[in-house]
Amino acid sequence: MVLKDKVAVITGAASGIGKEIAFEYARQGAKVVIADLALDAASATAAEIVAAGGTAMGVAMNVIDEAQVDKGIADTVAAYGGVDILISNAGIQIISPIVELSLDNWKKLLAIHLDGAFLTTRACMRAMIAKGHGGTIIYMGSVHSHEASPLKAPYVAAKHGLLGLAKVVAKEGAKDNIRANVICPGFVRTPLVDKQIPEQAKTLGISEADVIKNVMLKETVDGQFTTIQDVAQLALFLASFGSNALTGQSITVSHGWHMQ
Ligand code: NAD
Repeated sequence: MVLKDKVAVITGAASGIGKEIAFEYARQGAKVVIADLALDAASATAAEIVAAGGTAMGVAMNVIDEAQVDKGIADTVAAYGGVDILISNAGIQIISPIVELSLDNWKKLLAIHLDGAFLTTRACMRAMIAKGHGGTIIYMGSVHSHEASPLKAPYVAAKHGLLGLAKVVAKEGAKDNIRANVICPGFVRTPLVDKQIPEQAKTLGISEADVIKNVMLKETVDGQFTTIQDVAQLALFLASFGSNALTGQSITVSHGWHMQ
């Protein structure tokens, strides 16, 4: 129970990677706030955690809506007394060549990944500073925080941007014992990835099997997907690390696709 009584806010936690981190944190004793677009989905995930013996609540939070973010964090503080951990995880993917990408889609993706990271960081840092116990902020980056792929211009730009934000949070947060790091997963089979397999196959004119083998997993050491459990274990390590020695860093979990 290495996170006993810690309060963790996880955005985009009604699905995929965020949901698995929520379950792992709850198993380790954390009080978990499932922040996602729809209250129904967030509350359903929270109910699953409670049914499994954990402590959790759902909040409706569109991470690009300043008022909803501030309210979600205020509700968290009211219910659980503070915020110790933020996992800024909510995200989408848009597959398109640059020459066919609309400005609206460029802005939409950047807003969810970067405005969302900023707004949740600001609200959580304010709550952490007010309580005076420090905290940990973890951004869900990607191998695409370090590498590029065709058809993913806004995603690659946004994921690179999170590295910069994390470094500034590490520097500004240190005096209040707040640290910030970035997790950079390779491909993980979640709804976000399942959606892009047929999209990439169509755009590239290859089969879905070829997208998996020759696009997604080609550069890994063993042709394997990273799993939601792999990412959750790294998120647990980062949240339970005991000092500011580990801050402003990015750690890649990708079967060797990207090596730093
Ligand atoms: P997912 O689609 O399973 O889950 C994403 C969640 O984010 C959903 O519950 C969705 O409702 C939520 N969300 C989307 N827009 C939101 C918004 N504006 N406000 C609040 N919530 C919102 O996807 P996933 O694969 O679990 O992705 C989670 C994170 O991990 C993303 O940031 C993604 O870029 C990153 N990531 C995923 C992979 C992968 O291969 N799956 C690899 C590297 C990084």
